[in-house]
Amino acid sequence: LEAFRTVPRHEFVPPESIVRAYDDSPLPIGDGQTTSQPYVVAITVAKLGLQGHERVLEIGTGSGYAAAILGELVCEVVTVERIEHLATTAAARFARLGLTNIHVHHADGSLGWAPAAPYEAICVAAAAPKPPPALLAQLAIGGRLVLPAGALDQQTLLQLTRTDQGYLEHELGAVYFVPLVGEAGWPET
Ligand code: SAH
Repeated sequence: LEAFRTVPRHEFVPPESIVRAYDDSPLPIGDGQTTSQPYVVAITVAKLGLQGHERVLEIGTGSGYAAAILGELVCEVVTVERIEHLATTAAARFARLGLTNIHVHHADGSLGWAPAAPYEAICVAAAAPKPPPALLAQLAIGGRLVLPAGALDQQTLLQLTRTDQGYLEHELGAVYFVPLVGEAGWPET
């Protein structure tokens, strides 16, 4: 809750949405994308079980809002966005707000971000048919992965915990996210 009080959401939405910046709802951010509902960000972050020392991978930077929340809670955030314009806009925002522990990469996040792996926690803000194998592989033993998986029109939010034997899966409820478009997600239409 302290992180949500600290991060100014009005800095992450386009001018036409500023009046709704503190509504608990998703908002359009351009390029056909939306920034997630704060409540959904809160569930995701809570289920990552963060202590503060972690390096976290986020797939789907979008506006950068969820990355900024994560940046308040952990040492380092690595975030990957496939739309170049959103990635550069988010990077400029982090610089302007002095959020120096967030690193943005323009790439297909369905393949994760191998150079900084493994991660103690990974979250995904776009939905794939099933958990991308690269994300499972880049999760540290003991780490948590929270992501939506399922059909294009509805998904289940999943929490996967990596153990030395495999992955434990918990279903967190029905959600709706934009598609994860990429090699281990949906094809571009
Ligand atoms: N966390 C963001 C939510 C943005 S919506 C926020 O707080 O604003 C999801 C984002 O995932 C979109 O910006 C979309 O472009 C991005 N995305 C979709 N497929 C992706 C992929 N394969 N790799 C990286 N980003 C992807």
